[in-house]
Amino acid sequence: MAGKKKVQNFFRSLRMRLVLLFLVIGIVPGAVLRVGILHSYETKAVSNRSIDILNQAKILMNQIVFNGYLVDTSSEIINSQLEQLSNIYDGRVMVIDDNFRIIKDTYGLDEGKTIVSEEVIRSFQGEEISKYDSENGYIELSLPLTEIESKEILGVLLVSVSTDSILLNRDYLQNSALILELSCAMAIALIAIFLAKRLTVPFHRMARGIVDIQNGYKSELDENVYAETEEISVRFNQLFGRMKLLDESREEFVSNVSHELKTPLTSMKVLADSLNGMENVPIELYQEFMNDIGNEIDRETKIINDLLSLVKMDRSAGDLNISSVNINELMDLILKRLRPIAERQNIELVLESFRPVSAEVDEVKLTLAITNLVENAIKYNRPDGWVHVSLNADHQYFYIKVEDSGMGIPEESLEHIYERFYRVDKSHSREIGGTGLGLAITRNAILMHRGAIKVFSTEGEGTTFNVRIPLNYIAS
Ligand code: ADP
Repeated sequence: MAGKKKVQNFFRSLRMRLVLLFLVIGIVPGAVLRVGILHSYETKAVSNRSIDILNQAKILMNQIVFNGYLVDTSSEIINSQLEQLSNIYDGRVMVIDDNFRIIKDTYGLDEGKTIVSEEVIRSFQGEEISKYDSENGYIELSLPLTEIESKEILGVLLVSVSTDSILLNRDYLQNSALILELSCAMAIALIAIFLAKRLTVPFHRMARGIVDIQNGYKSELDENVYAETEEISVRFNQLFGRMKLLDESREEFVSNVSHELKTPLTSMKVLADSLNGMENVPIELYQEFMNDIGNEIDRETKIINDLLSLVKMDRSAGDLNISSVNINELMDLILKRLRPIAERQNIELVLESFRPVSAEVDEVKLTLAITNLVENAIKYNRPDGWVHVSLNADHQYFYIKVEDSGMGIPEESLEHIYERFYRVDKSHSREIGGTGLGLAITRNAILMHRGAIKVFSTEGEGTTFNVRIPLNYIAS
């Protein structure tokens, strides 16, 4: 089974395809060239031979007519010339008179017989015919014997010569070419196998590199022989980096959550233990301690609720509860809730509404999203700073802008801030109660509404978040 798979993989491999490609590119042009050249050779050799015979025959024809050979075939000179022509070209020459009678046949076979072939008839009408029969390997010429002055056609000269010598040459050339071609094909095949192996080495190295990364021997892929492998390496490293970051952040989040959840429990344990350790405890102390324990339970509940809302705020799992909402009122309410936190740090919090806006949104999720943005603008601000929030709309969208005079976000962090658990300055964020989930929740909530969020920031000067959400909810 594994062997079969291996064979299948071999045929699907880039290496195999490269070998085939090299072979096709290397061998096909040679074969085409061979066939083409041999064909031209044959055509050219046959045409040369026809012209030669025609020239010889023309001289002979003049003599035949001039010496009245058609009436009296005893002329030795002409007879010997006819024999010569037939011998030189390994062929047969026949002279036919105007009664279609063969008066001379260099083979001596058909003398005295009558010949009425198509070619002969056409030649009696004045046509010079040259025909090549490649299948049987001969050239046939049929030429009218014309009286020079009266132009009267007195007979026909038929010459047929074998082209065996030409075909022999052609076959010899073909064999040599084939041997050369096969030798080249073998050399090309060897070079192709060698080259294909070398060319695919970077891909095998890349696969091994990934295994090494999986096993922890290596931390990045750096296969940059080809632009393509370099691009894959860069993309892989980016993906792997993000996975690592996500993994680390997740671990850190779990430990943060555990810590947050343990704190109220520890307080409750201390309070209960000290009550149990005391004797004759006055009822007032009991009431006070029980009140503290109640507060800790409330805190614990709040943390758990927050965690649950995080889990629910998953783009694919979350169901939106859409209703028509007055966004101006919603914004007023959000800022009213956050104003005490802003005042604590003496931060000016301003809302500017350009027009009344009503939109189809999930009120709870949108509130959470905007609250996070404004809360961040306050949290990551400087004392005595400002936060400007504005609301505007056109016929399709409403726009919320949250601008602050805070510390800003470094450029290299901008692409990460929406990632779950990502925080620019971990210790600072933890101090002010951040978990790195706020912007992830915000973005998810906005995307669920088919909206968009963009950030602009200058370190040391401040940050601006622009949010755009459709006025009418677009169901998927
Ligand atoms: P956190 O719970 O830490 O606030 P967020 O997801 O809300 O998490 O924000 C991610 C990080 O982006 C924050 O840790 C902070 O460093 C940075 N950040 C977010 N908003 C601002 C802002 N308005 N000004 C400066 N930094 C910000």
